[in-house]
Amino acid sequence: NLSEKLQEVFKQLKGKGRLTEADVKAAMREVKIALLEADVNFKIVKSFIKTVTERAIGTEVLEGLNPGQQVIKIVNEELIALMGTTQSRLTFANRPPTVYMMVGLQGAGKTTSSGKLAGQLRKQGRNPLLVACDVYRPAAIKQLQVVGKNYNIPVFEMGDQLSPVEISKKALEYAAENRNDVILIDTAGRLHINEELMQELQDIKAAVKPQEILLVVDAMTGQDAVTVAESFDSQLGVDGIILTKLDGDARGGAALSVRSVTNKPIKYIGMGEKMEDLEPFYPDRMASRILGMGDVLSLIDKVQQNIDEKEALEMQKKMVSNEFTLEDFLSQMQQIKKMGPLKDLMGMLPGMGKFNLDEALKGVDPAKEMARTEAIIQSMTKEERRNPSILNGPRKKRIANGSGRSIAEVNRLLKQFEEMKKMMKQMNNMQKGKKGKLPFF
Ligand code: GDP
Ligand code: MG
Repeated sequence: NLSEKLQEVFKQLKGKGRLTEADVKAAMREVKIALLEADVNFKIVKSFIKTVTERAIGTEVLEGLNPGQQVIKIVNEELIALMGTTQSRLTFANRPPTVYMMVGLQGAGKTTSSGKLAGQLRKQGRNPLLVACDVYRPAAIKQLQVVGKNYNIPVFEMGDQLSPVEISKKALEYAAENRNDVILIDTAGRLHINEELMQELQDIKAAVKPQEILLVVDAMTGQDAVTVAESFDSQLGVDGIILTKLDGDARGGAALSVRSVTNKPIKYIGMGEKMEDLEPFYPDRMASRILGMGDVLSLIDKVQQNIDEKEALEMQKKMVSNEFTLEDFLSQMQQIKKMGPLKDLMGMLPGMGKFNLDEALKGVDPAKEMARTEAIIQSMTKEERRNPSILNGPRKKRIANGSGRSIAEVNRLLKQFEEMKKMMKQMNNMQKGKKGKLPFF
């Protein structure tokens, strides 16, 4: 993979203080080949190489890194920048219902993604409605009904007698009567972009005023995905992209190209057939995937990058002053997660070899545990996170439903959190008692 190739190029250069122009140029040749092999758009590769080269030449090689690793660091950061830096979430209408229009070519994954998304929104406590607007293929409505049945989501359909515009208008009325707060309109695709398709989508857009138009594109179509995204965006306007079938595309080039050509965020990626396989898109994870990183270097690097010292200090102050809330707890966990696989991190602690670690964990997967805790906190409102004492039975039940965990697990988390706070307080008191000295000295 790319990371290994770069290491190879720089093997002989160990110990040099700065990246020279010759070093960088040699490395960039490899980067260029690797990106083109990954089916990244040629224009993007060119401008990417230029950016990285400009940044890299003359850069001081960080202590503890060799020149190859230093270049990898820069390439990684620029890849992340190219894909949008941060995760982009779906937005919701200020006043319900929130309408999402799913658009894209035939076979891109609109219908299945609509279902998965509706299923996930349901889990978050919303009440979604699927709307069948693909009236051209007899099987299309049936397919959406099957999807809806699988996830237990209502499907609004009127056969193929009315136009998609009429159907979507009626769907809004239906949603109002049935208190559906999210409406996902599954539109028809075509094999290729044409006038008729765009006109129809524009008409639906005008009729329903969607909160977001989500363009579904098939990652396996590589370069074509870019052309498709460009046309939809210029003719219809696109708010976010869902990139499907990434499980079948090891190269990942489409993700890079689509984002940087349209400048529209990728909001979800499709990694398979199950509901959870529609995942939020994280630029840093995709960059690692393209680079093929995952070794100790990236781990150390991320440790350096992500522990924002200021934030850590602030957190420490909060802990000591007893103002530590569930919200702080959540952001702390997210910090830790950014550093990489938890098991790897723990393995780096002194005395924690892989063998000892497996022994100590006894089959518990710390990443999974953390993801559960995170899901529970994320299902709480801001107020609940700050003041967990307001959590009564119905609230706990809502949180349990929203996070897919049991009420017992919610209770356990709250108890653990209280114990943690108590411990912090005790430590704080002990410190005060010793006139500012830590108890260990
Ligand atoms: P539509 O024509 O845009 O509505 O596309 P469909 O939703 O009917 O999907 C077309 C095919 O792609 C179906 O067989 C889906 O199961 C499949 N599909 C959709 N998303 C993914 C994905 O993320 N991974 C894989 N492997 N298959 C997918
Ligand atoms: Mg469909």
